[in-house]
Amino acid sequence: MIEVKNLTKRYGDHLALDDISFTVEDGEIVGFLGPNGAGKSTTMNIITGYLSSTEGQVLVDGVDVLEEPLKAKAKIGYLPEIPPLYVDMTVEEYLAFDCDLKHVPAAKKQETIDQVSKLARVQDVKGRLIRNLSKGYRQRVGLAQALVGNPEVLILDEPTVGLDPKQIIEVRDLIKSLSRKHTILLSSHILQEVQAVCDKLVIINHGRIVAIDTPDALSRNILQINKLELRVKGPKNDVLSGIKQIEGVKLAEILRIREEGTVDINVETEEDVDVREAIFAFCSDNNYPLLMMKTEEINLEDIFLQVTGEREVRR
Ligand code: ADP
Ligand code: MG
Repeated sequence: MIEVKNLTKRYGDHLALDDISFTVEDGEIVGFLGPNGAGKSTTMNIITGYLSSTEGQVLVDGVDVLEEPLKAKAKIGYLPEIPPLYVDMTVEEYLAFDCDLKHVPAAKKQETIDQVSKLARVQDVKGRLIRNLSKGYRQRVGLAQALVGNPEVLILDEPTVGLDPKQIIEVRDLIKSLSRKHTILLSSHILQEVQAVCDKLVIINHGRIVAIDTPDALSRNILQINKLELRVKGPKNDVLSGIKQIEGVKLAEILRIREEGTVDINVETEEDVDVREAIFAFCSDNNYPLLMMKTEEINLEDIFLQVTGEREVRR
């Protein structure tokens, strides 16, 4: 449904996108993931025809966005990073205005407004000025706007930024409910945001694609790092040498001495080996109280380090 082919974008001397390619299949919901400044908004602005690329091509349902912008735009609903809301309009007035922009026939206008208000769950605030809405409701109005004209494709740029946890869950559920009838490209700089809802993740860093894979496969790759941090009460050299002897432990080193009589140890293990029970048994057999054992937290930075250190992971 969306084909991004060899996109390159320069802002003056600055190379914002460097030869990126990916596809979003019909009905798929794809997470576009990367830290701030990675090039997500730039890519989305090009896909939606609001920005031209320096090189490369975007096809939406086979239509070239550059060659036939109107035809392509009619297939796309776009929620930009900062939705262009007119705060002095009521929600209903604003949606009516969007209907005009998208050439919804006059006879269908009210029906469209009712429909998108219902889908984006803004029926209750239709008569209110946008100025007086909470950030969460404004974001839903932005979504309602994107849904005008029932586009096949939805491009959503960081739709949950600035929302509180409750609003994030609401917007996430909303997106999930839309995914059945639309093809969706959803950007975020937070892994957990997209992991739960997406079929596929496209990870971008410094304008280059570093990985394309399912959330499950990416998490599996990351988990293989198998790093543990321990805090054990006992004589540090005995503890360390004992842990080094556990089968599957590749590396064990003292991280720090936090308090007298305890030692913090970093442990790295072979891939696919879980040494946690063996560590517990060793400590317990020797009467070394195990005060803490934690796995390294999986975050986007780890994924970047992992995937940028290797060749592209593709499916
Ligand atoms: P993201 O959405 O992933 O945070 P952007 O696409 O907004 O990233 O930005 C990608 C890079 O391009 C950044 O380094 C940013 O500073 C730069 N950039 C974005 N827009 C412009 C612009 N209009 N002029 C110059 N540089 C820009
Ligand atoms: Mg952005």
